Amino acid sequence: MLDRFEPAPDLRDWIAETFITGDGPLVNEEHAHLAEAHLGILWTNCDNTRNMRQVLGQTELMPPMAMGKWQRARAIQQIEEWFGAMPDFLITFSAPACDGMNDATFCALVEHELYHAAQKLDQYGMPAFHRETGKPIFAIRGHDVEEFTGVVRRYGADAAGVRTLVDAANAKPLIDGADLDGVCGTCLRAAA
Ligand SMILES: [Zn+2]
Repeated sequence: MLDRFEPAPDLRDWIAETFITGDGPLVNEEHAHLAEAHLGILWTNCDNTRNMRQVLGQTELMPPMAMGKWQRARAIQQIEEWFGAMPDFLITFSAPACDGMNDATFCALVEHELYHAAQKLDQYGMPAFHRETGKPIFAIRGHDVEEFTGVVRRYGADAAGVRTLVDAANAKPLIDGADLDGVCGTCLRAAA
């Protein structure tokens, strides 16, 4: 089968409603800045196995950087054609890996990726905004233990791959039953 990447507007709407802007139980105020973000969501069937573990998802800050001039312009054209404009973040999910995941596991994966989609902090540690537009300045947040405590709190330590975080893990997770077998391409650690 050919390797394909397909934009997933339905999944984007579901993610926004479920975790960011809706009023359901999974809405997480730590993602509030993403209400102003354009999220470009892709499904892919392209296998991405690293260190014998399957990459399940990956979050990238847009527009793409660190390429040759033509490579970058070509990538920008492709992404703008997919999403109508350049998104703030591009989040890619492995369709074969997500197919058959239980709901809690898929939610844990989505939130793991959303936690990467952060707002930049200024020199005082406060959320940074563009001076002209007032829009949040976005950044990729790494997968360090403190910043991912939220995922542990919501899904438990097994889903987080950070069993040492016993304090957070001792609290009953908001959503039970998540257990991911794979890694995230952004941090290359156990997803969620
Ligand atoms: Zn990650």
